[in-house]
Amino acid sequence: MIEELTHYGTVLADEPLSRHTTLRVGGPARYLIYPQDSASVQGIIDFCHEHGIMFKVIGRGSNLLVSDQPYNGIVIKLDRSFKEITFYETSVRVASGYSMIRLANELARRGWSGFEWAGGVPGNIGGGVFMNAGAHGRAIQDNLVRVHVINREGEMFWLTNEECQFSYRTSIFQERRDWVILEAEFHFEVGDSQEITQKMEQWRHRRQTTQPLQLPNCGSIFRNPESHFAGQLIEELGLKGMKIGGAQVSEQHANFIVNSDSATAQDIADLIQYVQKAVAEKYGVNLHQEVEYFNW
Ligand SMILES: Cc1cc2nc3c(=O)[nH]c(=O)nc-3n(C[C@H](O)[C@H](O)[C@H](O)COP(=O)(O)OP(=O)(O)OC[C@H]3O[C@@H](n4cnc5c(N)ncnc54)[C@H](O)[C@@H]3O)c2cc1C
Repeated sequence: MIEELTHYGTVLADEPLSRHTTLRVGGPARYLIYPQDSASVQGIIDFCHEHGIMFKVIGRGSNLLVSDQPYNGIVIKLDRSFKEITFYETSVRVASGYSMIRLANELARRGWSGFEWAGGVPGNIGGGVFMNAGAHGRAIQDNLVRVHVINREGEMFWLTNEECQFSYRTSIFQERRDWVILEAEFHFEVGDSQEITQKMEQWRHRRQTTQPLQLPNCGSIFRNPESHFAGQLIEELGLKGMKIGGAQVSEQHANFIVNSDSATAQDIADLIQYVQKAVAEKYGVNLHQEVEYFNW
């Protein structure tokens, strides 16, 4: 099987997914492949379809809690090798493996405004669209024009911004998990490069002082419930620093869980459940995960 797959990109067998998630947990995937272009993605999907093999597409793994169990399918990693980008007058077409931080820096250099918020969000464009990632009151939906998609049957099509059904940290792709985002097109306003860079620097500095960036984590664990901040509820319960195995509620930011000491994915899942139960019992608020579970 591996010979056939190598037509589509670099293939790794029995690859620990802990190497591909920012939480540094996750069992081995039977195969992990880095395709280089949309045609290769289509080839892999056709291959999986023909042979009845499951697949999962990932980007930076910065919003993923992958179980400790082996995954008997193919992980398609859209990352460094899948990063074509084309600039037009005030718009850009970018492959889903392109880093959001890199795009934010590139736009700042050009003096294009609207993506400053992404300067500290460590995911790729595909994961960002899937999650409708955002920060500082803005989100990916604000500048997105359309998205190029391929489905499980290997058909490619474009979705407009409206058809993506964006809302707070959600999109149609969370309903249609067999769709793979290949590329996205964005429109930006022309602004002042220096102002944009300054704003990004300020926000990066704020992240460095308020988030536990020196330990493996996946950003916010929970979505903010209506009219509350998840982190505030968790902090008020005195759960900062709470540990299960090697997983810990961050001392710095209560809506972050860090892998502080060789945690397993199970430790992290147990801690998430503990926090959810404690918040529900005390405040009657159900916290919903922002982090995506995979292979549980
Ligand atoms: C330190 C830190 C800070 C963070 N801050 C923020 C923040 O401020 N705001 C915010 O919104 N998020 C934040 N995050 C979370 C994360 O960076 C975002 O959710 C990001 O958009 C995930 O992108 P990714 O490439 O890592 O996706 P992954 O984690 O690899 O995947 C996430 C989900 O998207 C799906 N997916 C990925 N690529 C594709 C594709 N091409 N087609 C279809 N589905 C796909 C995957 O199957 C998976 O279900 C933070 C994370 C960290 C570690």
